[in-house]
Amino acid sequence: MSIDPDDLPIRDDLKGVTEYGAPMLDVAVQINTNENPSPPADELLAEITELVAQAATTLNRYPDRDAIELRTALAEYVSEQSAESGQLVSTDNVWAANGSNEVLQQLLQVFGGAGRSALGFEPTYSMHKIIARGTQTSYHSVPRGDDYSIRIDQAVEEIRESRPDVIFVCSPNNPTGTSTPLDDIVTLYETVAETESGVLIVDEAYAEFSHQKSAVTLLPCRPRLIVSRTMSKAFAYAGARIGYFVADPAVVEAAKRVRLPYHLSAVTQAVGIAALRHTAAQLRAVEELKVQRDRIFDSAQTLGYEPVPSDANFVLIGGFDDPSSAWQLLLDQGILVRDVGLPGCLRVTAGTIEETSAFVGELAKLDPNRTRTTAEDS
Ligand SMILES: *Cc1c(COP(=O)(O)O)cnc(C)c1O
Repeated sequence: MSIDPDDLPIRDDLKGVTEYGAPMLDVAVQINTNENPSPPADELLAEITELVAQAATTLNRYPDRDAIELRTALAEYVSEQSAESGQLVSTDNVWAANGSNEVLQQLLQVFGGAGRSALGFEPTYSMHKIIARGTQTSYHSVPRGDDYSIRIDQAVEEIRESRPDVIFVCSPNNPTGTSTPLDDIVTLYETVAETESGVLIVDEAYAEFSHQKSAVTLLPCRPRLIVSRTMSKAFAYAGARIGYFVADPAVVEAAKRVRLPYHLSAVTQAVGIAALRHTAAQLRAVEELKVQRDRIFDSAQTLGYEPVPSDANFVLIGGFDDPSSAWQLLLDQGILVRDVGLPGCLRVTAGTIEETSAFVGELAKLDPNRTRTTAEDS
C-alpha cells in the first residue's frame, strides 16, 4: 500500500509539485539532455583508474572538505580558456559541488531563502525555478523578446523596482540556445550594484560552445557577479557530477557556510582531477558538435520549421503543429528528443554525425500535416 506524498506532512509549498522529469529511456539515439556523445578517451580512462585506485586506499577517511586540488585544477582550466594571458582566477575564486545544480542550490541557500526573491528571464532553464522553490525563494520571471533575447531596458526597470536577491541569466540560454551579450550582462550588473539589490548569477553551462567570451572575464572588481559552470556538457562528464562557480573569494567563503561537510566524495574529486589532466581530449568533440548543431538548424529550416540560431550544443526547433505527437513519432523510431513544454517547439541535442543524421532523416519523414505548422494554418 502506498500513499501519495501529498498525504504526508510535507511543506505546503511542496504539495502537488511535480519533480524535474526528463524521461530516461533506453533508446538508440538519446539527444534529449544536451550530453556530449563522446565517452572518455582511453588516456583518460587510464588516469581515472589510477587516481580512483589511489583514492580507494583512503576511503576510511573523509575527503578534503575544501577540494583544494580539484578547485586549483578548475581555476587553471578556466584561466586557460578565458584569459588572453596570465592566471585570471585562482583556487580562491572557484567553488565545486556535485553538478552545477548543487552549486546553484548552495547559492540560493546563501543569497535566497524564505522572504527573498529570484528573477529569471523565461523561457529559461527549468531548474532555476525548481531550486528556488526548494529553498523557499520566491521566483519571478520577465519574458524574453520574440528572438528570445533579454530586453535589457525592461530588465533594468524590473530590477530597480523589485530588487531581487538573485538574478539568473542563463547564457547560452537553455532551451533557446541564445547568448546574452557581455555588454548586457555588464548593464544588468551595474543595476544590481547601483541598487544594492542582490547577486547576478550567470549560468554558463554551455560556455565552451559559445562564440562569445565567458562572463568570467568580467569578474575582477565585480563581487556580486557569480558565473556557474559545469563539466556535464562540453566537458563530456555528465555522469561524474561536477559543477563549479567562479566568483569573488568572498562568495566562496559564503558558500562554505551552507555546504554539507565533505559534500564531494574522494572518488568524485579524483575523477574530476583526472579529467582536468586531459582537457584537450575531453573537449575534442566540441568543434564537431557545433557542426552537427548547425546541420540540425539548416535541415530544420530547409524543411520549413523555425529553428532558433544556437550558441550551444542543441537547437530549439519551432513550427511543430503538435510537438508531443512529433516527439512520440520520433521516439517510435528510436530517437529521444526533448519536449520542453514551449508551444510548437522541440529541443534537439547535437549528437554524433550518425545520431544527427538519424534525427534529420526522421524529421524529413514526419507527416507535415500532423506535426508541422504549414503556411496555410499559421
Ligand atoms: C545541464 C545544465 C546545468 C547543469 O547541470 P549539472 O549536470 O548539474 O552540472 C546547469 N544549467 C543549465 C542551463 C543546464 O542546461
